[in-house]
Amino acid sequence: LLENNAKPIWHPMAHPAEMRAQPPKIIMKGEGVHVTDIHGNTVLDAVGGLWNVNLGYSCDHIKKAIADQLDALPYYSGFRGTSTGPSIELAHELTEWFRPEGMTRVFFTSGGSDSVESALRLARQYWKIKGQGDRTKFLALKKGYHGTHFGGASVNGNANFRRNYEPLLPGVFHIPAPSTYRNPFNESDPARLAQLCAAAMEDEIAFQSADTIAAFIMEPVLGAGGVIVPPVNFMKLAREICDRHGILMISDEVVTGFGRTGAWSGARLWGVQPDMMTIAKAITSGYFPLGATLINDRIAEAFESDQSTFGSIGHGYTYSGHPVGCAAGIAALAETRRLKLDENAAARGKELARALEQLKSKHEIVGDVRCQGLMAAIELVSDRDGKKAADKKTTAAIADRTYDAGVMIRVSGNNIILSPPLILGPADVARIAAGIDAGLSAVK
Ligand code: PMP
Repeated sequence: LLENNAKPIWHPMAHPAEMRAQPPKIIMKGEGVHVTDIHGNTVLDAVGGLWNVNLGYSCDHIKKAIADQLDALPYYSGFRGTSTGPSIELAHELTEWFRPEGMTRVFFTSGGSDSVESALRLARQYWKIKGQGDRTKFLALKKGYHGTHFGGASVNGNANFRRNYEPLLPGVFHIPAPSTYRNPFNESDPARLAQLCAAAMEDEIAFQSADTIAAFIMEPVLGAGGVIVPPVNFMKLAREICDRHGILMISDEVVTGFGRTGAWSGARLWGVQPDMMTIAKAITSGYFPLGATLINDRIAEAFESDQSTFGSIGHGYTYSGHPVGCAAGIAALAETRRLKLDENAAARGKELARALEQLKSKHEIVGDVRCQGLMAAIELVSDRDGKKAADKKTTAAIADRTYDAGVMIRVSGNNIILSPPLILGPADVARIAAGIDAGLSAVK
């Protein structure tokens, strides 16, 4: 493995030559909140896989559910004409648990990018059914991340993820992200910032003409863009604007769903009911690939009552509602509820936020810390006043020294990203902070 590491595999979001020069860590085992690499180093996984292993690496309930389902039926399709027991049961559970958000239907997918793609497609299809086929455009936030497919890449707010693949979907417009640390208005007051971003959204809608816009998509807390926590009222303001203009709202909850933010979902955190929600990642706690687009009555009833051919859903995935994935999902959901992981994320998140503030007061290189439940970012800068981003080499060295100190973190641009398993205990929070402290101290 060491010999062949990074030779045949092209790793996502990386330069092939860079990966060969510094091969990725090979992870061999996982237990609880820890993973062990090929050299036998065991570290606390403060990334939680990739924002998804909420229940840690030794959830026997999920493992057993997967094994049992493999025995009974490893696969059957959920395309029209056939269905499977676990997909029916999981869909029922999901509509139960996401009912406060207004979600009543489930369109299964095989991952987060699929869920976004389906939401965008269903939004366009909804307007065709409604006889308003000119509503084809999408609004999204700068710095937002919505996956890899052409639709998701088009609404992605980071130009770096778009530029290699252009031309993308036409008619996509981005409005400023409500980041109190970096925003074009230079506004750090959250309430005022929310108003300015909402006004920018209104302006864009007026400029485009509301009756050409299908949907607005946003992450309730922007993840890959650097854990940007919007002001408390921003999502509500965005919902009001969407309502005023009839625009659908899609809440991309691929990261924020299932308790990550300290609430059951990001939409619930901000007290908003979107029209669709995209979920994936923690739906199985990472034990099996699965995703879903959740749909409210407004959309579902339009499709269900439609007499024309437009009402027939014209896309799907071979692994939509994979029975093994759904069995894993049922078990993960049950464990998440039983252990009240949303509450644990809120409690541990408060401790983590305090610890990160201490790191900020100790280390000049820390420009900003942001934390919502158990998703957090430490933004590294070479100069605090000018907010100049720390260089790549420094950031990578800090991640390496933190790993040496027993904590796996993730680097995204000049941000250290944290999204540990939600089963985290108070001592684990202290260990994460101590590991990062050691990493920051080692690289001066
Ligand atoms: N949406 C958001 C908000 C995400 O963070 C991600 C993945 N990080 C995706 C969509 C895409 O999900 P996947 O990688 O499972 O395709």
